[in-house]
Parts: sequence; C-alpha cells; structure tokens
Amino acid sequence: MNILVINAGSSSLKYQLFQMEEGNILAKGRVERIGMETAILTHEPTGKAEVHEVREILEHTTAIRKVLELLVHPEHGVLASTSEIDAVGHRVVHGGESFKSSVLVNDEVKKEIKRLFDLAPLHNPAHMLGISAVEANMPGVPQAVVFDTAFHQSMPAHAYLYPVPMALYRKHKVRRYGFHGTSHNYVSERAAAFLGRPLEQLKLVTCHIGNGASCAAIMGGKSVDTSMGMTPLEGLMMGTRSGDLDPAIVPYAMGKEDLTLGEISSMLNKHSGLQAISGISSDMREIVEALEAGDKNAALAFEMYEYRLRKYIGAYVAAMNGVDAIVFTAGVGENSELLRQTVCERLTFLGVEFDEEANRKGRGLERRISKQGSKVEVLVIPTNEEWVIARDTFGLIQSQNIRLELSKIDFSHGNRNSVQ
Ligand code: ADP
Repeated sequence: MNILVINAGSSSLKYQLFQMEEGNILAKGRVERIGMETAILTHEPTGKAEVHEVREILEHTTAIRKVLELLVHPEHGVLASTSEIDAVGHRVVHGGESFKSSVLVNDEVKKEIKRLFDLAPLHNPAHMLGISAVEANMPGVPQAVVFDTAFHQSMPAHAYLYPVPMALYRKHKVRRYGFHGTSHNYVSERAAAFLGRPLEQLKLVTCHIGNGASCAAIMGGKSVDTSMGMTPLEGLMMGTRSGDLDPAIVPYAMGKEDLTLGEISSMLNKHSGLQAISGISSDMREIVEALEAGDKNAALAFEMYEYRLRKYIGAYVAAMNGVDAIVFTAGVGENSELLRQTVCERLTFLGVEFDEEANRKGRGLERRISKQGSKVEVLVIPTNEEWVIARDTFGLIQSQNIRLELSKIDFSHGNRNSVQ
C-alpha cells in the first residue's frame, strides 16, 4: 500500500510518499511560497535526481497537482499512475477536545476541523486547504487526519486546566492541549523498544526540541502533562517564541510600548526566544558558534534556554514521582551535543550518569548517551512524524477494509444456529 503524507501550511506544502509494507520512502519534497509567481518546488525521488523548479503556484490545489505530476513523471516519478496512491494522511495541528486519535476524513470530521479554526487560526485553515486540494485532484481516495494534540488528550484535568474562572473553559475551551503529540508518541514507543522494556511500565520525559520545543511527561505510554498549552507559545524558550512568562507582562508591555494585540502576539511568537536574547539568530547552530567565539549575548541565550529546559525536566520528574529515561529529539535535541551535555551534567542529583563519548557519536541513530548502569537512562531518538502519520493512515484504512469485508459476510446462518 502506498500512502502520501501531506503537511500543508498556509503558504507551503511538504509531502512524503511511503510504501508501507517495506517501510520505504519512495519520494519526498515540498512546495514553498504558494500564492506567488515564484513558488519553489523541490522533489526528491528516492534513487533519482532531485528536481528544483521555480514557477507560478497560486493555490494548494495547483501545488498538489504539480506534486502528483512529478510522482508519475516518466523521468522523475516513482509511480506509473496516481491510482497507485491508496490513501493520503494529513498532519492537522489542532484537534481540540474532539479528536483523541487519528480518524478518516468525512463530512463530520471536516466540519469539526473547521469549527476548531478559532483555536489554530494559522494552521487548521491551511490543513483544510490541503484536504480540499486532495479531494479536487484525487476524488474518492481515502484521507486520514493525524492531530498534533491527540496524544495529549490523556492528560488529567488537574494538568490541562488553567487556574482561571471555569467559564473560560466551559464557554471557550480555554485549556492546555499540547502539541508535537505525534513526535512524543513516536519517541516514547521507540524508547521502550530501545530499552527492551514494556512502555506500560515506563516513566519518560520526552524533549522535542526543534524550532518549536516542548517537553512531555509520559507514564505507561500516556501523556500526563506537556509544556505547550492552549497554543504552541507556552512552555520552553524556543527559537523565536518566549515560552513561559508572567501573563501580566502582556498588558504592561502593551501599555508602555503602545502595542496592539496583533503586535504583542507577533513579538512573543516571532521576535522572542533565542533570537531576542542573542540578537544573533533563532538557530541553535549559530548560537553555539557565537558563544564559542566568545559572544556574551549568545552565551546568555544558551544558558536561559538550557536552564528553562532543565527546570521542565525536573518538574515532570516530580509530576510522575520518578523517571526511567529522558529522551531528546527534533532538530536541536538530535543534533546539539552541547545542549544535551549541559542538561545532563546538571542532572546528577537525579542519578544521570552522562557518557560524553556516546554523546558525540552516532548522529542520526537511536542511541543511549548515559553510561551503562546510570540510574536514569538518557536517549537520543530521531523523530519521524511523517512515518506516524503514514502508519496511522495505514491502520485506519486496514480496519475500514476489514469492516467492509465483515459487512459482506452473511452471518445469518450463524445466528440461526445460535437460536436453534
Ligand atoms: P521544526 O520545529 O521547524 O520542525 P526542527 O526540528 O527541524 O524544527 O529543528 C530545527 C532546528 O534544529 C534549527 O533551527 C536548528 O536550531 C536546530 N539544529 C539543526 N542542526 C543543528 C546542530 N547541528 N546543532 C544545533 N542545532 C541544530
């Protein structure tokens, strides 16, 4: 079965085509700057030359059409026909309280995703464009949606509620939802497999540290708390996002600087974090380079970033009353030796024994960076959100097929037998 995974943003669209039985990626790519005359299309078919095109792509339907053309292109393609695509899986950022797991798309599901536009105004409308674009280009092909929030729906009320008047929750669904759920879910399963222990018996702190960053406390395979909140702004300090701050700063700064709601929101989402403190970059690679060259602001930005991450790890160990393993993943978590080393060397009170050599080796691989016998294990697990989307879609299609097959079987004989 071939499954196309789509991650549609407002002006971009990323895709990966999986052959599920073998677990192979047949092709991947992205369309950037959708809506412009100079949209950029990058197509990477496995085992063939990459394609880069700059062309007018004004909407998502055209972007999907171009992607499908490339997938069946005589030279750059990997399929004979688009009919070889059995299903499409979409990443959807916000599933609110309605979606506790991935689902197949139908009219009800689309209506519900639209109802949630308010909670994710930048993301959910773009995902709907992706879903409609697939419908327009591949009518009848089953589609599934996989939500960033779904994995965290297992959080208990004392973790997801904010201590504000309950009317805000009842009327407007103000609560913690959490994000990066697909990644936290995947790395926790992989961590259990790596450790050779049942996930049901493990307490894990998973740290998804990319441009956006979040920690999760995972007990027995279920998320019991996570650092992102109602939106992906809360929690850790990030590339350009502030993470946690005193909410009273918002009206205070608005008054003092004469800012509108849009301006303060943009400041906290796009002009804060590593970028604001270092004055150099939101990219951890450039921060580390600058601090190694002696830049004091870069050093302060790194120190704040590491400190805030370590505090969350400590909080989640307390939340679970223990921890078996800490897991690092995503761009920074998988690649920044310095961040992992600094965090781990300051967690000796927990029983973390850090292995400096292991930390330097094996980039791109699942690995242990704590010493053998360390009371708390520390792992690096490369995340693979696209694979989880493909896997969930595959599972949904298979169970639908089984239901269809079952509905064709005539059970009446069995029933008659049982009555007799
Ligand atoms: P996104 O949240 O956009 O999915 P990623 O998980 O891809 O982000 O992470 C991107 C970030 O990873 C970059 O901004 C960069 O800071 C960081 N990163 C990538 N490679 C390295 C590296 N070698 N060292 C430190 N940070 C890195």
